[in-house]
Amino acid sequence: LFNFCAGPAALPEAVLKQAQAELLDWQGKGLSVMEMSHRSEEFTQVAETAEQDLRDLLGVPDNYKVLFLQGGASQQFAQIPLNFMAEGGSADYIDTGIWSAKAIEEAQRFGHVNVAASAKGYDYFAIPGQNEWQLSDDAAYVHYTPNETIGGLEYGWIPEVGDKPLIADVSSTILSRPLEVSKFGMLYAGAQKNIGPSGLVVVIVREDLLGNARASCPTMLDYSVAAKNGSMYNTPPTFGWYLAGLIFKWVKEQGGLEAMERLNQTKQRTLYKAIDSSELYSNPINPVDRSWMNIPFRLADDRLDKPFLAGAEERGLLNLKGHRSVGGMRASIYNAVGQDAVDALVAYMAEFERQRG
Ligand code: PLP
Repeated sequence: LFNFCAGPAALPEAVLKQAQAELLDWQGKGLSVMEMSHRSEEFTQVAETAEQDLRDLLGVPDNYKVLFLQGGASQQFAQIPLNFMAEGGSADYIDTGIWSAKAIEEAQRFGHVNVAASAKGYDYFAIPGQNEWQLSDDAAYVHYTPNETIGGLEYGWIPEVGDKPLIADVSSTILSRPLEVSKFGMLYAGAQKNIGPSGLVVVIVREDLLGNARASCPTMLDYSVAAKNGSMYNTPPTFGWYLAGLIFKWVKEQGGLEAMERLNQTKQRTLYKAIDSSELYSNPINPVDRSWMNIPFRLADDRLDKPFLAGAEERGLLNLKGHRSVGGMRASIYNAVGQDAVDALVAYMAEFERQRG
């Protein structure tokens, strides 16, 4: 079976097998990793190794903290203004679709949001170039969404925002290719795509930005508290953290992020080529702004959606239905979805077009 779900998403089989083998007895200790104290020597080793492997993969500079937190990426939408935007302050946000809009809506509860650029003028089919951005002088930070998981829009570039901290929601693009962490004030990623289980969110934040949370910021949402306590102010999501660690090892074994980039590059090319060369399927996104990880496509006649999905399921091609807010199809091809899955999908698409197109 091939799973094209946008998240929780396919995980590498080798990782699932290892987790299964260790579920009842972690490394001969007679305990499940879920049953170990988060303060035990054993779990400390699991946690530190995971962090180090992520640091190695992304080349995280020493002046950045890596945090393993709860509440998913959505909790960050509030946590970011609470930590970085003073009472009565403001921040710049770029609107490229549903996820950036959610971040904007939440930040508006805490202060003024200047939408410095919006893809609305392009029907959300293209990313406004930086020459169109109207950044404000008093913004505490600039927030954007490098990959819009639902719309299938992805920046192939990193914005230049001067001395303002650049904050990015990398939930659906992290670990898909190398990333220059030093360009960012903060990065965050919900884990349920390229990292592992849902509920966990990984935050990478520059140390000098910490310690300025509002007085009203709940303790659990203050990054500096999490950082001081090694993400263990309370009981952390131990199983998610452990599984994330297995994924980081797996990515390293695949050859790291350069290798992932090569694989992902080929996968997305294969699928877009199939879409673009057909009469039946289409993807409306400006070619240079197309997502590598989440590829939405439509059938020329949406009455064919149902039979297309039914045939896909019969062939073990799962979860191709587009997000409920946009319809059509979407293939999410994260790291654990191999070229074989994409080849199988493309073969089915061609077969369906021959029969029904
Ligand atoms: N941001 C992006 C880009 C996403 O794709 C998602 C979820 O799919 C989220 C945020 C929300 O993540 P969570 O469900 O972990 O809160």
